[in-house]
This record gives sequence, C-alpha cells and structure tokens, in this order.
Amino acid sequence: MVYQDTISRVLYIDVKDKKFWITDRKDLFDKYIGGTGVATQLLLEECPMGIDPLSPDNPIIFAVGPLVGVFPLASKTVAMFKSPHTGDLGESHAGGRSAIAIRLAGYGAIVIKGASDFPVYVSVQGNQVFFKDATTLWGMNSSLTPARIMREREKGAGYRTILRIGPAGEKMISYACVVSETYRHFGRLGLGAVFGSKKLKGIIISGKQSLKVTDSKKYKQLYKQIYDQAVNSEVMRKYHDLGTPINVMALNNLGGLPTKNLQQTSFEQAKEISGENIAEKYLGKRIACAHCPTACVHLANLRESYKDSPYFYKTTYVGYDYEPLFSLGTMLGIENAKDILILIEEVEKYAMDAMSAGVILAWATEMFEKKLISTVETAGVEPAWNNTKAYVDMLAKIIKQENDFYKALGRGVVYASEIYGGKEFALAHGKNEMSGYHTGPASHLGYLLSARHSHLCNAGYSLDQSLLMEKEVSPEEIVDKLVEEEGVRQILSSLVVCFFSRAIYKDMNLISELLALMGIKYSAEDLKRLGREIHSEKFKFKLREGFSFENLKLADRVYETKAPTGYISRDYIERALIYAKKIIEK
Ligand code: SF4
Repeated sequence: MVYQDTISRVLYIDVKDKKFWITDRKDLFDKYIGGTGVATQLLLEECPMGIDPLSPDNPIIFAVGPLVGVFPLASKTVAMFKSPHTGDLGESHAGGRSAIAIRLAGYGAIVIKGASDFPVYVSVQGNQVFFKDATTLWGMNSSLTPARIMREREKGAGYRTILRIGPAGEKMISYACVVSETYRHFGRLGLGAVFGSKKLKGIIISGKQSLKVTDSKKYKQLYKQIYDQAVNSEVMRKYHDLGTPINVMALNNLGGLPTKNLQQTSFEQAKEISGENIAEKYLGKRIACAHCPTACVHLANLRESYKDSPYFYKTTYVGYDYEPLFSLGTMLGIENAKDILILIEEVEKYAMDAMSAGVILAWATEMFEKKLISTVETAGVEPAWNNTKAYVDMLAKIIKQENDFYKALGRGVVYASEIYGGKEFALAHGKNEMSGYHTGPASHLGYLLSARHSHLCNAGYSLDQSLLMEKEVSPEEIVDKLVEEEGVRQILSSLVVCFFSRAIYKDMNLISELLALMGIKYSAEDLKRLGREIHSEKFKFKLREGFSFENLKLADRVYETKAPTGYISRDYIERALIYAKKIIEK
C-alpha cells in the first residue's frame, strides 16, 4: 500500500500582498526527502542571485521531514534563507512545537516571500492563512510580551507553534534570532533580522491533520525500539540528566574551553558555572520539544530582587545550554552562575543569538583592555572581564544602535574588526562567531568547512578528541571525515531528527526501514549518496553567492592559544583547505 502523505504540500505566503497558495512539490520531496534537502532546493529556486539579504526578495523557508510527528526525536524544523550575518547560506534548526505544528497543519514546507508595509503576524490554521496587524506588538522591549499576546489571541493551545522575533529582529541586528515557543531558537545566522526586514513579527501555525503508516505492527515495533533508546541509553541519558552543560567541566579539564576571548582554555571558576553546580542550585525543571521523550531543555530558576524593595522578588525560568554558558560565561570571564543566567535572560529578551552576542562582547572587552577603543566608542561603558553590569548595558546599546560602534557590533565581530581593528582576535569562521570548542585543528576546520559554519554540521571537536589526541592524522584524512559526517547529517536534517539523537538514527538501514513505513523507498546506499548530493547543493548556493575557500581564515588567536592537541599549525589548516576545495568543488 502506498500512503499519500501531505508532506509534499508547500504553503507559499506573500506578506506584501497578503495572499497565499498551496502547491504540491512531490518532485522535490520524492528526490530530497524533506527538511534540509528540500529547503536547499526551495532556496535555490526562490532566492535571486546576489540579493541583499534584508531585501523583500530574500525568502524564508521552513521545512520538516516525513518522520516528524511519527517517530520520537523527529522534532525539528529547518529554516533556510540568505544570511544577513554572513551573506551566504543561512540555515538554522529549532524544535519546540514548530515541526509537529507544521506537519499537522498539513505541510512539508512553508515559503514566506515579500515584505509588508506595516508590522504583521501570520496565523496559519490548517488550510487557512490570516494576516493580522501587529503594529501594537512592534517596538516592545521584550520578545516575551508579544508572544504572550499572540498566545491569548490565537487558537490551538497545546499544539500550535508561535515563532516570533524580539527587538533585535525589529532592528535587523544581523544575528537576531527567532524564538520558538520559549527556550528554543532558530539561533544562528540572523533569521530574526530577515523577519524584521519583512515587518513580520511572528508566525503561528496549527492544524489537526493525522498521519498514517503503511504497516502498524512494524511501526509499533520500531517505535518501541527508538523510544527505549531515547529514554534508557547512556548517550541520551546525559542529555536529560545534566544536558549539554556537562561540557563545561569536560572541556575545562581537557584544556579546550575558550575563556576570555580565547586567551585561555580553562577557567578558574569553571566549577561554579558548571552544569553540575547550576543543576544543584538553580535547576527548576526540564522540558522537551514536542514528541521527544529525552527532554534535554534545562530551565534554571532565576530569583532577582527588585532594586528598591529587597524582599520582593521576580522569579524567571531561564533556559541554559553549554553554548551560552561558554559565550556569555567563560568568554566574558563571568565568575558566577547567577550572572550568566542574567545575561542569558537579557539576550532572550532581545531575541538575539547568544553565541554571537557573547563572542562579540568578548572581542569588545579585549579591544578596551588593549586601549584600541575607549569610552568614546563604548558610550561611557567600561567593559571588563566579569563585569556583568557593563555587558547588560552594552547589549541594550546594541539594541538601541546607540552610536557607530554599537551599529558595528550589531553586524558581528568580523564587520566590527574591519572598522576598529583587532582582527587578530576577532573569533569567527566564515563570519559566524566561534562555537565553544578549541579542542584542536579538526574543531576549527569543522566550523570553516561546514556549509553553515557551525559546530553542529560535523562535530570536528569530537575528531580532535577521538583521533588527534591519540595520533597524527593528515589534514586530508580529517577533511574526508568531516565531509563524510556532514553528508550523514544532511540526511538527519532532511528527516528532520534532532542531532542529539544521531547515535540512534545514524544507521542508514534503520532510516530506510522507517521511510518505508511512510511509503518512501530509499536504500541505505541511496541515502548515503543523497547526503553527499545535498551537501554539494548547499555549496552550489554558497558559491553562487560569493563564498570562496580562499577567503576562509582563522584569527591569529586560534594559532596562539594551545589546544589539547597542542598548538594548531597554519600549514595543517592551509593544506586542509586546499584539499577541501578540491573535493567539495569537484
Ligand atoms: S533532545 Fe532536546 S533539543 Fe533534541 S528534540 Fe529532545 S528536547 Fe529537543
């Protein structure tokens, strides 16, 4: 029996003319499964070459895959767009309820085009789309208030998703993010700024479609197998128990924890800001993306007293992961957990990428320390390691775009360092601020070579630990492994499953069986080939938009600061890049 799924329906929304239409794109879904595979093709179709990412012509594409809503941990949505932060491929993944809501609304993908003349939010309810005036929601100081208003106004409580921007998106800060429900984000590469350029405050999606499988007996058996691993296996338990913050101590002990703008790789106060300590003192609860039994989202209970009334408290739940603990913690030399939670809360309020924000502030601190900028540029603020108050003020000034310096900070560390100097310690890869792993050459090559310059694409840091700390491995061999891993991850992000579950879903034979239950035929070999093809299609977009391997550079700081594998050699990185160009561009 071949089940006719709704996965191939694509909803097109034009926010300029306030119209929508639905097209069946079986051609794309048959060939590229869904998620990343399909979104890349829609981006190639919809995004005119060479456009300004903040122009109305930049499309926003959301895509899910056939396993979403059917198997545990298939809980993610892929967003694609041309990035206003890097000028090339913009890709970001988020969970929350986004993926299930899109799938149950009856779509495999949603394409948003044009720009509105006034602030709007869009409400998708199954086959209907409503355009709502969001003028009164625009200009609020926090991303949380408009979300609450949308929640009260719109139907679908419990199964809808609310994706929205905050002040950073409205001001088109190039690393503004989009928040899914609360605590999950399309964090990297500036999707929030693209929303802002379209005057799109948010999108709410709900629907009640049901999904079918071809063989319910087999489905129950495979579902149980995956579910059991999601809740019982050691590898998934770690995400539930301490979550990714477990990495603070692990990397600190290894000497790979970027600290104070990567001047150090271990932090004297690591224990205080570790996942273990935060769990003990602040953990309030764990939550999960829809249809995920692992529940890795850790929320800390932040209690702050009001300024003039010491016995009156405001209590907030703050989501924390390893990455913000690194970027807003160790990179800024913040010595206590509560202060990091305060900074995470600020960034959440403005809805900006926590990783970029922290790395940019770290660069600005070193610039100030080295007297390359003064209080003239910082508008009176004196940034210094562990000065939380200064960082809170600077984040507010970035949002206000208070002067030229803060306007530059609103465009990222590469842009700011081109104007003010300090390129040698501006820590970014392909213009995307660095992630929290200075473990060796594979981690940095991983960021440089991945299609979206993110640690999530190929986990180079794990190659440093599993291979390079043990023996010498040639740069060519490392590049081969990174590219191979990225191919596998293209399949995972086409299904779309959470990368934390890669140990469960990495087996292509299993994926082939799961897809067969949805009436989709792919052999394990087909899947491997397709992963490589999707990877090349992404590079097709990147190269079209001006990406070049020759422009990939590491800041001097990366070579100067010892990693667990030793000092990283320039020759090693350069040889790897020459080889990567040859195999990726061929
Ligand atoms: S493991 Fe965490 S991020 Fe992944 S789907 Fe589950 S709750 Fe979401």
